[in-house]
Amino acid sequence: MAHDASHYLLTPEAVVTPTGADQVGALLRASSAHRLSLTFRSGGTSLSGQSSTGHILVDTRRNFRELEVLDDGNKVRVQPGVTVRQVNARLAAYRRKVGPDPASEAACTVGGVVANNSSGMACGTANNTYSTLESLVLVLPSGTVIDTDASDADSKLRQLEPEIHDGLLRLRDRVRGNAESQRIHQ
Ligand SMILES: Cc1cc2nc3c(=O)[nH]c(=O)nc-3n(C[C@H](O)[C@H](O)[C@H](O)COP(=O)(O)OP(=O)(O)OC[C@H]3O[C@@H](n4cnc5c(N)ncnc54)[C@H](O)[C@@H]3O)c2cc1C
Repeated sequence: MAHDASHYLLTPEAVVTPTGADQVGALLRASSAHRLSLTFRSGGTSLSGQSSTGHILVDTRRNFRELEVLDDGNKVRVQPGVTVRQVNARLAAYRRKVGPDPASEAACTVGGVVANNSSGMACGTANNTYSTLESLVLVLPSGTVIDTDASDADSKLRQLEPEIHDGLLRLRDRVRGNAESQRIHQ
């Protein structure tokens, strides 16, 4: 746990292995109350040291390995600790695969792929992580858990996290109000 695939060597003071989103939320709340920094780590294949720390490391791989194929292989609901190879092995029976194809697919996980917006040699921008995701279960710094697929996701975010909700609306409107931001670059 003292190194990822980068050249940094940082030995964490503690490694925490939460078992669910509620525990991740509790960790985030406690770290902010005690002013401690948390670093998340999944497959640990990052190349720039972003999954290593000398402080508290939160392992979101070990206990987050559930995977459910939906809609005859057109969708997959997957927890962040599952590797890209494991997802594709399950989808192969449906002749499907996920969009991002990082060369580290045997070891990197969905959590790390999403957080890094990873791509690969073949997916381009059409099938990268951003284009592949339909919804996310997010644990916010306050500990609030939002499932963006839930019908009340928007009202829950507005009620529980008004600053984040307002900020997102401002960003949305800034993009919509700027023709250059909306132009698709080929
Ligand atoms: C040999 C090799 C080949 C590679 N090829 C490619 C490539 O072709 N394309 C490419 O894009 N990258 C590539 N990479 C880089 C790396 O593998 C990818 O970025 C990969 O997606 C990281 O996934 P991971 O599970 O290892 O994440 P980690 O390294 O564990 O974490 C990545 C980041 O995500 C954060 N994180 C992890 N899990 C969560 C979570 N559940 N919630 C919130 N944040 C989280 C971590 O804090 C960290 O900042 C390669 C790396 C190697 C070693």
